[in-house]
Amino acid sequence: MARGLGKVLSALALDPPAPPPPHDDRASLAAILAALPEAVLAIDADDRIIKVNPPARALFPSLRVGAPLASHLRAPDVLDAVLDAREAGATTRTTWLERVPVERLFEISVAPVAGLDCGPLVLVYLHEISETRRFERMRVDFIANASHEMRTPLSSLLGFIETLQGPARNDETARAKFLSIMREQAQRMARLVDDLLSLSRIEQHLHLKPKSPVDLALVARHIVDTLTPLAHDDGVTLQLRAPEPVIVIGDRDELVRVAENLIENAIKYGASEAAEPMVEIEVQRVRGDGRLVVRDHGPGIAPEHIPRLTERFYRVDAGQSRAKGGTGLGLALVKHVVARHRGHIAIDSKLGEGSTFEVRLPLYSAHAEVDA
Ligand code: ADP
Repeated sequence: MARGLGKVLSALALDPPAPPPPHDDRASLAAILAALPEAVLAIDADDRIIKVNPPARALFPSLRVGAPLASHLRAPDVLDAVLDAREAGATTRTTWLERVPVERLFEISVAPVAGLDCGPLVLVYLHEISETRRFERMRVDFIANASHEMRTPLSSLLGFIETLQGPARNDETARAKFLSIMREQAQRMARLVDDLLSLSRIEQHLHLKPKSPVDLALVARHIVDTLTPLAHDDGVTLQLRAPEPVIVIGDRDELVRVAENLIENAIKYGASEAAEPMVEIEVQRVRGDGRLVVRDHGPGIAPEHIPRLTERFYRVDAGQSRAKGGTGLGLALVKHVVARHRGHIAIDSKLGEGSTFEVRLPLYSAHAEVDA
């Protein structure tokens, strides 16, 4: 035993320590890149891709290790950023708009890495910002649209106020006429502000699912009663078929806005222009859903407009909408309410044959069973 120990000690004392196993930089690099949440490519000194981490693979499934970077990213700005990073020994940044197969925008950082056994590398970070950019553009468009919608009635109000203070100061007839137009314009601004506030309230609560039982049949009946005088003025008949209660999970006030917008639109744009001036409203149960259908037999909507109708401020005919007191926000509100209720909206229309708007919402009973 003592002799054995002596051998070990003398071996330790005499022999130089065994060299560590050769270090494999590429294996370490792969492990580090795999742990990063961002999409990263490693490029060698010959501009070839030597590593693709999983997030980068998810963004670009066709990337091939060993292929030149230029064969995948045909973007002179990115290739210049790689060159500059290498020459300056510092991080460079650029953006890259990929156009095919779909448009995607990336923020790109290129960082040189020196001192590796496997030679100098550059790491290319790809951060997709298409969604951020899209939201930013939507926000800018939204503010521009909202301001434009406000400005028209506001300039008309200012114009009339100046006329009433000046040339029409003592004109009784003109005053009565102008005041009634001013009232209309002020009401239009009030409607716009109401719709904008409702939209922002619903957007704030989009992630919160409503919980109360609401009878969709009662909601539809209430709106039919409320809108009957308006329909009557336009010579339109409202026909409601809601033979039994249809209890959905909902927020009553929001569902009232949905029914009101759809039925009012059908009267304004559909039935009042139709040979058959009638709006049919149906409420029924269909499997796990409550279904509200509003159908008119009016001029219908051309197919290219249908996918855009629920965008804020989108109108088929802006002049007609404004003349009828529209704000261009009704269907956007409907879409948001339906999304918050985890429901669906479908629009079916043919030019010359009328339009059908269908909203489906989960039934309260289905909700109770799921929760049980
Ligand atoms: P608005 O305040 O203009 O009524 P909406 O968002 O409710 O805004 O509707 C957007 C546009 O959709 C309307 O301006 C109109 O052009 C079109 N539209 C909506 N419902 C109908 C319908 N039943 N028939 C024909 N066009 C319709």
